[in-house]
Amino acid sequence: MDREPPEPPENPEKCVGIDVGILKYAHDTDGTTVGSLDLSDERERLEREQRKLSRKQHGSNNYEKQRRRVAECHADLRRKRRDFLHKLSNYYAREYDLVAVEDLNVKGMMESPSNSRNTASAAWRTFLSLLEYKCEREGTHFVAVNPRGTTKECASCGVSTEKPLWVREHSCPACGFEADRDANAAWNILSRGLEDVGVGHSERTPVETALPADTPVSAKRVVEAGSPTLKERTASAVSE
Ligand SMILES: [Zn+2]
Repeated sequence: MDREPPEPPENPEKCVGIDVGILKYAHDTDGTTVGSLDLSDERERLEREQRKLSRKQHGSNNYEKQRRRVAECHADLRRKRRDFLHKLSNYYAREYDLVAVEDLNVKGMMESPSNSRNTASAAWRTFLSLLEYKCEREGTHFVAVNPRGTTKECASCGVSTEKPLWVREHSCPACGFEADRDANAAWNILSRGLEDVGVGHSERTPVETALPADTPVSAKRVVEAGSPTLKERTASAVSE
């Protein structure tokens, strides 16, 4: 039996659309952009320990010791990645009444498999499942929308324009609307989300609201502060 979906908020005050990306971790309709988590130090350490392991005699005591060190490095990487995703998803679930994201089950089928894409989509999946669960816990409406064409479509007029990955700006030939590529996608995700819950486009179109200036936030800051905002947050809000 299907679970009853939660009632859509009558008049959701704080709504956000999040474009989860490859180059940036996330870009939302409030102009917050969150960078990817920099784990290069941890990865370097892992590679170093792996190289050491390859030089040890298989089955020796030293080999065993080194094998444990490699396992610790793997665990450290996993822990840091998860910690980041927990904090980011907590932030969205607590800060908003409605959170719209792309449905990755549909998106996954549309995209050709390649290694980097798979890694990115594994992280997306983890993020989205954490986000969905936390939204439920906080009473926040979680909407997963059809991802088809969210990047090509103009958030202002709806006209689709082809846009290869390296084109980072959206510039609409039909209406002249200009925005960051991911900001434009985030707006499309939000309006689809509002449509899905029956709230309609309302007056929240990018042109009328005037796109907020993007606020880039490093992933490190999310990890340290527990949220991508610069606002002071209570200790209870950041602990999980
Ligand atoms: Zn347009």
